Amino acid sequence: MVQIPRGTRDFVPEEMQKRRYLQQRMEATFRGYGYGEIQTPTFETLELFTAKSGASIIDELYNFKDKGGRELALRPELTAPVIRCYIERLQMAPKPLKLFYFGNCFRYDRPQKGRYREFWQAGCELIGTDTPEAHAELVALAYTILKNIGLQNIVLNIGNLHVISAMFEKLRITDAVKKDLLTFIDKSQYEDLNSALRSNDISQQDTEAFLEILQTPDLDKIMNYVHGHERAHTELTRLRGVMDLLKTSFGIPDPRVKIGIVRGLDYYKGLVFEIEAPVLGAEKQLCGGGDYELVSLFGGTQVPQAGFAIGFDRALLALETEQFTFPQPSLDVFIVPVTETTIPMALSVASQLRAQGLTVDLDLLRRGIGKSLKYAAAQHARFAVIIGPKEQEEGKVTLRNMIDGSQSSCAVADLTAAVFT
Ligand code: AMP
Repeated sequence: MVQIPRGTRDFVPEEMQKRRYLQQRMEATFRGYGYGEIQTPTFETLELFTAKSGASIIDELYNFKDKGGRELALRPELTAPVIRCYIERLQMAPKPLKLFYFGNCFRYDRPQKGRYREFWQAGCELIGTDTPEAHAELVALAYTILKNIGLQNIVLNIGNLHVISAMFEKLRITDAVKKDLLTFIDKSQYEDLNSALRSNDISQQDTEAFLEILQTPDLDKIMNYVHGHERAHTELTRLRGVMDLLKTSFGIPDPRVKIGIVRGLDYYKGLVFEIEAPVLGAEKQLCGGGDYELVSLFGGTQVPQAGFAIGFDRALLALETEQFTFPQPSLDVFIVPVTETTIPMALSVASQLRAQGLTVDLDLLRRGIGKSLKYAAAQHARFAVIIGPKEQEEGKVTLRNMIDGSQSSCAVADLTAAVFT
């Protein structure tokens, strides 16, 4: 038998029910913050993704030549596509622009729990402002989305890439070495980082101080460490402002500063943040975002840009791991024609009720009352409508409340009202 490609998944109705529920909750929060939805193509020109990251990114992509010889790639993320669209269509739109998206992404990752080759992201881009309040609102939106879907335990960490750069400058670390060190920092591999710093002739004392600053949530300590570096000082003062707004105006109880956030994608610049669900273990990162620069790289007019992407599949996994109770799919009415002669009436009652906006199913297998009622219960039907020949003659049906088992005779004309109450 032909099998599903590695790292991809099918979603059966029970799973789609949860996914749609989650998507609706997320969408409501995006809209509540004034964001409008955007959709871009599933594949793009390969160059869109290599422009910033270089050819090395190709190893992580699904790329191909089409029949016309064009180099294309399935999108690995949606920020670059949204910015491409912004430059083509939206540069003249009033600012700030608030755009959100849901979309499947493709990466040639090694599949494991929480890591797939096709996965979904829910994310947004905020274009045209970088005030502290804009950044605070962006971070608060990511946090609120994850809270609003019902997650209990999430951790928000906020950093700043200019500060890390200042830390590297302080130790006089060259760009070539920096690249390797950033990989260790990104993966929180502090022991490896320690060895790497020591082998680059950084003293034990300086190494320890560097490692401490990467991990401390204490802004004053960080300020002290980069004392005298003007840019770092400005950025940290801004970060303090953003943290204060998050706590006081957005009511987020415990945002944490973590300077050791570097983010995998290489187009971020100042503010960066991540949200984790510790319950997920190794693949616990639910969301990543920050302040970045792509518009000018793609030929647009320079403008502030920031955004984030939530791993939709991981958010769902985290909810399931926290034992979240998802709403059950339910059916308003299941109709049971008792004999073949009542099938036409059953179909017409179904049409009438559906036209009123009710969700209605009926026995299409001619399987009799007992089995039909069992099936109706399995579908979580609220009511069963049973139509026998005698009832058909009288223009009536038997209405059975599937929750308490009570039954009554009901005129067809009164059915909708009876079901709605
Ligand atoms: P990134 O674009 O790498 O910042 O990813 C944003 C979010 O997407 C991450 O925080 C993850 O939650 C999720 N994510 C990234 N790669 C995968 C993957 N291969 N499978 C599932 N989720 C992923």
